[in-house]
Amino acid sequence: MTIAVFEHDARNLEEIRVLLEESGHLDAFVTTDLGRLMVAMNLNSPHRDLSHSMMPVQIDLLILDLDSDAQALDFLKTLKGDIRYKDIPIVVTSESDFDQQVRTAYAYGATDYLRKPLNPSEAKARIHASLRLNHEIDRRKARENEITEIANQLRDLTQVLMKLSLIDPLTGVANRRAFDQTVEQEFKRARRNRKPLSILLLDVDHFKNYNDTYGHQAGDLCLRKVAQEVLNTMKRPGDMLARYGGEEFAIVLPETDAAGALVIAERILIGVEKLGIRHEYNSAAPVVTVSIGASTFSGFSSEFEPSKLIESADKSLYEAKHQGRNRICAAIANHKQEFDREA
Ligand code: GH3
Ligand code: MG
Ligand code: MG
Repeated sequence: MTIAVFEHDARNLEEIRVLLEESGHLDAFVTTDLGRLMVAMNLNSPHRDLSHSMMPVQIDLLILDLDSDAQALDFLKTLKGDIRYKDIPIVVTSESDFDQQVRTAYAYGATDYLRKPLNPSEAKARIHASLRLNHEIDRRKARENEITEIANQLRDLTQVLMKLSLIDPLTGVANRRAFDQTVEQEFKRARRNRKPLSILLLDVDHFKNYNDTYGHQAGDLCLRKVAQEVLNTMKRPGDMLARYGGEEFAIVLPETDAAGALVIAERILIGVEKLGIRHEYNSAAPVVTVSIGASTFSGFSSEFEPSKLIESADKSLYEAKHQGRNRICAAIANHKQEFDREA
């Protein structure tokens, strides 16, 4: 703990030094030269604008004599305007009563005043109180920093949690919740911009048989591979793949008409089959395949809703299953069209 003392009168200074020593403060920096104190505190930099980046000198209390010709008040003002020192307690001393000079010192940020000649007991008690005040300020600052740090951590954590709450843990793609949000947003955008919006619903064929034959873990791995393959086929940054549930995936294709959606669906169908994941009990092929239901909103109807778009894709998917799997069925608004892969 460091105490700095400026007192222009050498005898008074010695008195303060002894008094501090008796209170256990042996390392006080005492001087009759204000310039020396400024140097010691790094306050006389020729580059004043750099002073904020300069290392602060650890000072817990300043005792400042106002009676000299020296510019004690200016010094005080400079100190309080310096971010490194603005919070240290400053006890001003003066031989005069609580006069204008002392009042100004208070206005500049002095925290206490001792009348000279000093009463040693009173001075010791007041110095002790000022140091306690400094300690309190430090503690409060540390606490504030801690709270700021915790608030930052909480903010970061919230962001992570928000992201996690939108991700499917098995495949790492978006989850159903994220899909619902995206469809809702994209639907509004499509209507606003009068642009088409397509979605694909994709379901792995005879996946129950796959699990039963190769085990649940192999089933999980298969779902990851299918998800990755679908991701590879999606080219536009606005396209979104989500795990819709179980072995079903959903794909949102903004600004994509029915023909465009079919191109993507076709790519997925071929891509998954080409993975060549053996699936003995799949009626459609000896490897893992998917069925896809596609649905497109033209961007023009004012009655059509996102739920209808999904419902329509779901019906198409059912149709694709019914027709023998490993194929695509598509609906454009309410006008359903069916496409066979071989057609
Ligand atoms: P269909 O061709 O008609 O779609 O037949 P299916 O067997 O795929 O359909 P069904 O809905 O009868 O079975 C889906 C199976 O998907 C049931 C379940 O065991 C499996 N499944 C769902 N979620 C997961 C998962 O997270 N991991 C694994 N390994 N299997 C899953
Ligand atoms: Mg299913
Ligand atoms: Mg299935």
